[in-house]
Amino acid sequence: MRKLHSISIIIPCYNEEEVIETTHQRMTSIMQDLHKRALCTNYEILYVNDGSTDGTQKILDKIFADDSHSRVLVLRRNFGLQGALCAGLTFAKGDAAVTIDADLQDPPEKIEEMISLYEQGYDLVLGVREDRQTDTFFKRFTAEGFYNLIKILGVKIVNNHGDFRLMARALINDFNALGERNRFIRAMVLSLDNHYATVFYKRQPRLQGSTKFSLGKMLSFSLDGVLSFSFVPLRVVSIIGILCCLLALTGIIYTLCSKITGHALPGWTSTVLPMFIFSGIQLLSLGIISEYIGRLYVEVKHRPLFNIRKELTHHQ
Ligand code: UDP
Ligand code: MG
Repeated sequence: MRKLHSISIIIPCYNEEEVIETTHQRMTSIMQDLHKRALCTNYEILYVNDGSTDGTQKILDKIFADDSHSRVLVLRRNFGLQGALCAGLTFAKGDAAVTIDADLQDPPEKIEEMISLYEQGYDLVLGVREDRQTDTFFKRFTAEGFYNLIKILGVKIVNNHGDFRLMARALINDFNALGERNRFIRAMVLSLDNHYATVFYKRQPRLQGSTKFSLGKMLSFSLDGVLSFSFVPLRVVSIIGILCCLLALTGIIYTLCSKITGHALPGWTSTVLPMFIFSGIQLLSLGIISEYIGRLYVEVKHRPLFNIRKELTHHQ
């Protein structure tokens, strides 16, 4: 059985001034307890300030000054949760890292179970929610629809797993070496390692504050998930294209026949309607293709996933 020495707890924070202090206290008491019981020899709590515009940084500065186990990464602007997590994973020093939300909706008590699975040899341990009771009807409905859709499209994903997970050092290094910009981490880790364990938990309501995911953010996240991992939409376009051609061919043959037999049916509908139908299909196809081209554009530019304004670290 392998032993866990150091562990990094990565906590992304975007305008979390209401919760961050409570989170730090609860996290610290859990980590100290694990440390006392020799489940880990050392730990760090790494906060990633994802361009917060409220008082989050002030509180993080205070936490950093008071606690030698804390570290803070300050990003230059809001890079989104996936960018913040990537920053955390790049800077984490531990032999394993756990990513967890700042609002403690995922219970940090489960970290102990994750560590024991790490000791059993798993490099990837996924936190999986038992149900979606704490979500609004809208979120539950859209999330379930989205996961079903991307599964049909062939994206490998574990239902109800968010971003609460443990990754071992070797896997973190593999992850950090990936070059792609469009990040949908919960699918990316599964594409790196199919030997994983799961830990089930009940997701709690948010401690304080409100969700940091606007509808726009959720939509762009879902699109990334589909288009970064599946080429099925492109194939569907090709199939629709082929079907349209067949349809057009039948139409031509039919008109020719009716012309020959003298039953021609010339009319407004038969000219204008197909024009609408086909231009609609063409536009739809172009739209899907341009989604991919847009992503290629982002990849080619090779923009940084995150920029660090400063790093606060205790030199031990
Ligand atoms: N978050 C972030 N950058 C963002 C949006 C969110 O770092 O642009 C963080 C946020 O501070 C929290 C986590 O991501 O720690 C999850 O966000 P939230 O709780 O708002 O999401 P929900 O639980 O509503 O899905
Ligand atoms: Mg939350």
